[in-house]
Amino acid sequence: MTNKPTMTQHQTIRIHAAAPPKPDWGAACNGCGVCCAAEPCPVGVLVSGRRTGSCKALEWRDAERRYVCGVVSAPERYLGVGSGRIGQALSALARRMISAGTGCDSDAQPGD
Ligand code: SF4
Ligand code: SF4
Repeated sequence: MTNKPTMTQHQTIRIHAAAPPKPDWGAACNGCGVCCAAEPCPVGVLVSGRRTGSCKALEWRDAERRYVCGVVSAPERYLGVGSGRIGQALSALARRMISAGTGCDSDAQPGD
């Protein structure tokens, strides 16, 4: 029997000090921003022009003390499309990516 080697990857991300702590996988999304600060989703890759690092569409909301997806809240700002069918489709895709209304699907483990 051989043991598979395991590797723990560490990544430093910048998160607002007032952001809520990341919930456990499967718990309700609270807008902590960890997933999108770690790497962009497929829509975020399109917006950010890169596959690594924080997504350019990740927006901090002071009043709500949480992050929101700019592609969902203002698709015209990031995609250059309005609220027409293309904008709505991409916005809906981003909404699914950020798990809006569903459970957190990020297995990132924030450390100290
Ligand atoms: S889906 Fe992303 S923003 Fe939502 S709770 Fe999980 S890590 Fe935070
Ligand atoms: S859900 Fe929105 S903010 Fe998060 S990575 Fe995707 S496009 Fe960017």
